[in-house]
Amino acid sequence: MKIKEILQTEGVEQEISVKGWVRTRRGSKRVSFIALNDGSTINNIQIVAEAADFDEELIKQITTGSCISVDGKLVASKGSGQAVEILASTINILGGADAEEYPLQPKKHSLEFLREKAHLRFRTNTFSAVFRLRHALTFAVHKFFNDKGFFNLHTPIITSIDAEGAGEMFQITSLDLEKLPKTKRGEVDYDIDFFGKKTSLAVTGQLEAELGALGLGQVYTFGPTFRSENSNTSRHLSEFWMIEPEIAFADLTQNMDLAEEFLKYCIQYCIDHNAEDLKFLDARMVEEENKLKKEERSEMGLLERLQFVIENDFVRLTYREAIDILRNSNPNKKKKFNYIIDGFGSELQSEHERYLVEKKFKKPVIITDYPKGIKAFYMRMNDDNQTVSAMDVLFPLIGEIIGGSQREERLDKLQARMQEMEICQEKLWWYLESRKFGSCPHSGFGLGFERLIMFVTGMKNIRDVIPFPRTPQNAEF
Ligand code: ATP
Ligand code: MN
Repeated sequence: MKIKEILQTEGVEQEISVKGWVRTRRGSKRVSFIALNDGSTINNIQIVAEAADFDEELIKQITTGSCISVDGKLVASKGSGQAVEILASTINILGGADAEEYPLQPKKHSLEFLREKAHLRFRTNTFSAVFRLRHALTFAVHKFFNDKGFFNLHTPIITSIDAEGAGEMFQITSLDLEKLPKTKRGEVDYDIDFFGKKTSLAVTGQLEAELGALGLGQVYTFGPTFRSENSNTSRHLSEFWMIEPEIAFADLTQNMDLAEEFLKYCIQYCIDHNAEDLKFLDARMVEEENKLKKEERSEMGLLERLQFVIENDFVRLTYREAIDILRNSNPNKKKKFNYIIDGFGSELQSEHERYLVEKKFKKPVIITDYPKGIKAFYMRMNDDNQTVSAMDVLFPLIGEIIGGSQREERLDKLQARMQEMEICQEKLWWYLESRKFGSCPHSGFGLGFERLIMFVTGMKNIRDVIPFPRTPQNAEF
């Protein structure tokens, strides 16, 4: 039986067997108490092993980290820490763990240390809770869209286009890098590369998702995304997962409504299905916060913050309004921001986003209608010819969690913009044909999955919400 099931069982005095990893063993010469966990829940089951029933050598091998199977009787616990426990009749060591060598001793380890032990960190309370929540969120994403009649679309991971135009792509090739074939003009000859052209790992599946939406009506992608941006921050990975819905006939307002409903749904799903994991992480966060100086502590606990996001409407304002607020803000006037906002066209840095979300509104914020110069070519031009129909959803502690837009569905406007931004139209002939044949207004957005997990779990570093993080200079495991 899984421990989760056992702990919910009402009928005691039954024979059961359980397998799991030993968290701790303590006790006396007469009796041992083993805290066992099998990953099904944050809670351990207590195994009671009377010395008289077991070989002394066997008991000695039951050390932290070892894997055992236990047969015994489920009984009401005499101790105060738990309702039930297992009185063991048989114990088998499936895999021992040398007590001297096992790195995860039963004490508090730093997250940095555990990152280096990523192959074992699933066995800690914190990481098992995080990865159960990651699963719950995956499930919630699919359920949300399925219930709304969206179709999941698998877009290619290998691509020949740089859809974001940021040039932060990992090139892939089967050419021998030591002996690169050259053309007569001395350039690398991609004609004889595997795909007959230069290819890379995708930074987004959006352009293909748009094609899906313009036939299937509403689709979403949920897949890995790769960016070789050399930004060693706590919010960026080189390999992350993105969810990209794309909706035919939707304008920017409907796009924002969907994004807000979607985020609230996912958070509510975790509250409904993973209450114990969240309770654990909430307590963990309080402990962490208490180490900070008073003014650095957040005003809300984890559970409180999740509830707050579900219960409140997100604030919606235009980029121009945001700039006005920021320009007149105290940190801008007193030159406390690293980047001073001087007017229309300024990029919003994370310090500005956090000011709006955490200081000014104290709620999630959606900023719309950004200057065309700081956004991608596919966003729909507004009538002012200066701004585009874009939206960024900003969250407390996280900053940007979603980036989206209404797409430019008018062929002439799209071509004009591509020309201005020097984007190759020949390569994107198929994208342009979607505007030539049966085009329609449509919108979509991209949610960074790990940023959502960070928000829900309260983890502060994105490396701690993906099993095996990929970041600059790091591809271990
Ligand atoms: P940022 O400004 O934070 O780098 P972006 O503007 O590059 O984000 P988009 O291209 O709009 O982001 O991607 C959509 C979403 O994907 C973002 O809102 C964010 O949640 C997530 N995201 C983007 N880059 C990364 C990354 N390197 N690691 C993890 N998530 C990311
Ligand atoms: Mn980025």
